Amino acid sequence: MKYRVLENKHIYAALIILIGTILFFMMVDFEFSLSDWVLIYALVASTLVVDHYRIQLPPEGNFLSMDSAIYLATLFVFGLDFTLVVLLLSSIIHFIYFREDFWWISPFNFSLYAIMIGMAHFAYLSVGGTIGEVRIENVLGYVFSLGIYFLINLFLMAIFIYLMKKTGLIDALKGVLIGAFESYLCTLLLSIVLSFLVNMAPFMGLFLFVCIALLLSFTFKQHFELYQKVADKANKDHLTGLNNHGYFKEELAKTILEIKQSKEPLSLAMLDIDDFKKYNDTNGHLKGDNLLTFFGQQLERECVANQHIVARYGGEEFVILMKRTNELDAAHFIDSLRKKINDTYYEGVEILPYGCLSFSAGVIEWNSEIQSSSEFLSHADQAMYYAKAQGKNNTHVYGKEIEAISIEEPMEEMEQQLKIFLARDIYTYRHSKRVFKYAVEFSKLLDLKDYERKVLMLGALIHDIGKLEVPREIISKKGKLTKEEWELVKNHVTWGKQIVELHDKNKDISPLVELHHERYDGKGYPHGLKGEEIPKLARILCIIDSFDAMTTERPYQKTKTFQEAIVELRACAGTQFDPYFVEGFIDYIEKNYISVETVDTV
Ligand code: GH3
Ligand code: MG
Ligand code: MG
Repeated sequence: MKYRVLENKHIYAALIILIGTILFFMMVDFEFSLSDWVLIYALVASTLVVDHYRIQLPPEGNFLSMDSAIYLATLFVFGLDFTLVVLLLSSIIHFIYFREDFWWISPFNFSLYAIMIGMAHFAYLSVGGTIGEVRIENVLGYVFSLGIYFLINLFLMAIFIYLMKKTGLIDALKGVLIGAFESYLCTLLLSIVLSFLVNMAPFMGLFLFVCIALLLSFTFKQHFELYQKVADKANKDHLTGLNNHGYFKEELAKTILEIKQSKEPLSLAMLDIDDFKKYNDTNGHLKGDNLLTFFGQQLERECVANQHIVARYGGEEFVILMKRTNELDAAHFIDSLRKKINDTYYEGVEILPYGCLSFSAGVIEWNSEIQSSSEFLSHADQAMYYAKAQGKNNTHVYGKEIEAISIEEPMEEMEQQLKIFLARDIYTYRHSKRVFKYAVEFSKLLDLKDYERKVLMLGALIHDIGKLEVPREIISKKGKLTKEEWELVKNHVTWGKQIVELHDKNKDISPLVELHHERYDGKGYPHGLKGEEIPKLARILCIIDSFDAMTTERPYQKTKTFQEAIVELRACAGTQFDPYFVEGFIDYIEKNYISVETVDTV
């Protein structure tokens, strides 16, 4: 596709160059006196100077060049040959000294001007315009020839922009027209003024004109820089230097309008730093401010590299707008950003629950059911709060909340038990929540009875409850465990079974708690059961549990990516895991958590 557009653009440029060059040689005559040549060189120098010192106009930084005024004045006072020779010489010098990125741009511009000047000349003559003195009777000619000059420029440039940017032709026309009208009116008046001046005193007139153009260029440049400084201040957050809330909202509204037309995917993430109040309370507000600045810099670096727009939305909340990104890729990006932030040390973060800087994020992709930008933002916010509720340091995609099924009551009880982990061992808490989530999603794809599904989900949530009995120093030990310590950890399955069986109603869940570390080849614990001797649900839980253990990240530690974990699951199918359920689980992970592009490259 890209190739075709490039081709079209080149063919178009070649066509214009061909037409312009043929017209040029049909119209031009090089016979001039010496004094004519002197004047031609003066005109060439003037066009080059005014072209180099163009007038920069806010807000977008459009340029107004006065070279057209010089060409038109030359056309009115000295005629077509003169003007074309001035054009030719200044184009050659331009080509040599101001090389554009593509060599063909200079010949293309030359041809464009040749066509415009030629047509403006014939238009001028056709309504009775006379070459030489500036006369009131020529006013119609001035206006008409400039109109033709303007129209040809408008159409030829609009076609070019249409081919370059793939926008609609009407949009391209509008784009060229906006802001162009005033500058063309300005060019018309300036060309008449210049005609007067060169008519009376060619060199002096030209000199004065160029001086005024230069002064205007400098003044407008200062004006433009001032405008940019003020605009920057209005759009930037003073603490972090990121875009601010107001700017972001404008940008979001604009982008939504764009994607409604282009139908490209658009995702939004809302980020909130975890436990920032605690950081402030312990380290002081000033250090809190510094941390926000540091956090903002990290976000900006990653977002700029990926062409995402980032802004500080409020206190310790940030937003990231990801164009041409679907929700899966967006969640991927935000989650890897979260991991990088976890792994980047900043003074004072050791007092935070995870011992590192972290944030919770909500991600959402735009869809046609969303009514407005504020609904889009509010959904991202809801998803972020859901991520917080899952134990923070987490990314959640809007709409992927675990559905409430008829297990509220036992679940609530188990949640209460699980909450003890929040203070003792946040990792087991988070792990249990994730294993539960996988179990809910994966069990939907399996051929299970409703009751079995319910048991699997509850078992997933509570499977590590026995770890409450493992001493704290072993649970949180950073280095390798000793043999004795390891034996103690292994006991968690038996302790878990005992805890669960305290309530009679939990008896169906107990095998999952006790047997989720059994292996398919019989080398697991606590009993060394083999193959189908292990209950089906425990075999399934074993796969989910191991997958999460492989991919669980901890700050400052390397973990397996989802793809690496899939390779590992396959390698252990038939030994550690039930091969049938491994394939099903891999299929589910690939479809739900790994984008198509990433899978293709594995
Ligand atoms: P949670 O994990 O639930 O998000 O907890 P939290 O402590 O991060 O959130 P909470 O909303 O309770 O507190 C946010 C804190 O952020 C409170 C406020 O003092 C602090 N804060 C907001 N803006 C600034 C700022 O510009 N500078 C500093 N230093 N602190 C700020
Ligand atoms: Mg907050
Ligand atoms: Mg917060």
